[in-house]
Amino acid sequence: MLLLCPWGPSADQASSSGCHAHGQCLAQRAQHTNCTASLIRPAVRSRPSRNRRRVQATTRCADFPRPNLEGTTSFENAAALSAELYGAPRPERPLRIVIAGAGLAGLSTAVYLAAAGHHPIVLESNPYLGGKVGAFKDEEGDTYEVGLHIIFGAYPNFQNLVKELGIEDRLQWKSHSMIFAMPDSPGQFSRFDFPESLPAPLNGVWAILRNNEMLTWPEKIQFALGLLPAMVFGQSYVEKQDSLTVTDWMKKQNVPERVNEEVFIAMAKALNFIDPHELSMQVVLIALNRFLQEKHGSKMAFLDGNYPERMCAPMAEYFSQRGGEVRVNSRLQRIDLNSDGTVQSFRLADGSTVEGDIYISAMPVDIVKKLVPARWADMPYFSRLEKLVGVPVINVHIWFDRKLSTVDHLLFSRSPLLSVYADMSVTSREHADPNRSMLEMVFAPAEGWIGRSDQDIIDASLRELERLFPNEIRQDGSMAKVRKWKVVKTPRSVYKTVPDCEPCRPPQRSPISNFYMVGDYTKQKYLASMEGALLSGKLGAKAIVEDWNTSKPSTAGRRPSQPETKGADVIPATLSRLQPE
Ligand SMILES: Cc1cc2nc3c(=O)[nH]c(=O)nc-3n(C[C@H](O)[C@H](O)[C@H](O)COP(=O)(O)OP(=O)(O)OC[C@H]3O[C@@H](n4cnc5c(N)ncnc54)[C@H](O)[C@@H]3O)c2cc1C
Repeated sequence: MLLLCPWGPSADQASSSGCHAHGQCLAQRAQHTNCTASLIRPAVRSRPSRNRRRVQATTRCADFPRPNLEGTTSFENAAALSAELYGAPRPERPLRIVIAGAGLAGLSTAVYLAAAGHHPIVLESNPYLGGKVGAFKDEEGDTYEVGLHIIFGAYPNFQNLVKELGIEDRLQWKSHSMIFAMPDSPGQFSRFDFPESLPAPLNGVWAILRNNEMLTWPEKIQFALGLLPAMVFGQSYVEKQDSLTVTDWMKKQNVPERVNEEVFIAMAKALNFIDPHELSMQVVLIALNRFLQEKHGSKMAFLDGNYPERMCAPMAEYFSQRGGEVRVNSRLQRIDLNSDGTVQSFRLADGSTVEGDIYISAMPVDIVKKLVPARWADMPYFSRLEKLVGVPVINVHIWFDRKLSTVDHLLFSRSPLLSVYADMSVTSREHADPNRSMLEMVFAPAEGWIGRSDQDIIDASLRELERLFPNEIRQDGSMAKVRKWKVVKTPRSVYKTVPDCEPCRPPQRSPISNFYMVGDYTKQKYLASMEGALLSGKLGAKAIVEDWNTSKPSTAGRRPSQPETKGADVIPATLSRLQPE
């Protein structure tokens, strides 16, 4: 049986995770009155949404039907990858595979290794599962999170996983729209509505052409001309743009500066919590590509509740029922090596060691860099990680005493400090409140704010909200009253996607024969996202199933150790396979 405490980390774990989101929660630790270990419950199918009627702006939860993703190439490819792992030849002896980190990447690795017949042991430093999708409960039982999370139609591995776990009805789909606040018309929103009747990319083109509030026709034409090489030359062009920032690319393609102000600032902040003058253009093109090539790619869903309970628990339950386990409060402190440089054991903060046949890091890149053994440090596979640095971000929650005129959707604030926000009292069942709103907001760029007090951050957020809701919110509290708030800071979140990061992202297979790495920063085509984390886990599991000939009678011996010379990067596939005894 599996124990976890999803609410409220301890001081020890906060520092171990390197995520001051948890340190921040520590500051509020006195308020975590309901921090008791609770049993993970079986995946319970939530009731299907009652109201599926299309509404434009609402204060009620009104979900849209799940889009038909089956049959799309990306969904079927992801399903095929799952099938490969579920259908892998059963091992004579399941491998004991030790995974450090129970974020989505570590949990995904464990799910698919268990599906392939192995026994994963997941070690998590925090007392709860989820990492960046972690969540906490306040003294009144209200949930607050490390980050506001959106699920896209263009997340095929996410969509397959929830189907495999039987929890796909936990996704609350919204209208196929992108909705932006209008800085020059406070209180107004501008919508890009993707018509259901048109295939991709026509639905996207239609959505852009129909919107005349944000860009003028000449601006739209110049923007489209700028994007032409990406459409003509496809992936090879997209990859080459990694060395340019969005701002550099705009200058090169003669895209008017107003497109930056109207579109790219909001996009860059939403994609990587930074501004366009820092963000690699490749990121924007990858996102646009997915959204324009897949009919439902930009369709968004919210999970119906917090991720630790509604998503991570069923994942942990899946592998726990198949011989795996997850241990919370188990911080990896050191990687112990054998004389040949392979991993001997994971040494935990309490001094104990955990041994296995194979070891996986599913920790954030900023932590991995600190734990790489000195003997491995010169290998390019590990030394290149230095370029990948987590970006600060802040997640703000404000509970109001009344209902605000919001929309049942994700909203791009297009204000200097806030990025995206949502009224969770209408978007997600767990927060549903017919009488009062709760705004959850991503505060970015956060570089200059991460060291400021929570009160400063709330004051700054309210100043921006006053502009977004001029008839409802005043910072002086003369209109809607703030009932309570929570600020969660993450000084190092996803890696900052500045130019030239792509060559530094490591594949899941490391040069060390019994060591693999997964995580949203590792090589996969979905950037640093939940989809990227889940896919990295699947790719890690696939690499292990391929490398270790597990249907052979014994896997007790370790694979041959690999040369540790400088420049030894990825070992040949032949060497990476377990030699049958
Ligand atoms: C504010 C915010 C908003 C976001 N919004 C979205 C969104 O809308 N859509 C989207 O797709 N993505 C979004 N993301 C990104 C998404 O959350 C991440 O890409 C994804 O969750 C990363 O998963 P991971 O498993 O790779 O890493 P993590 O979630 O960081 O997991 C790593 C785990 O390792 C554990 N760990 C660390 N050190 C140790 C140690 N020494 N020993 C053992 N365990 C350790 C950590 O505690 C953690 O649980 C958002 C992120 C943030 C911060």
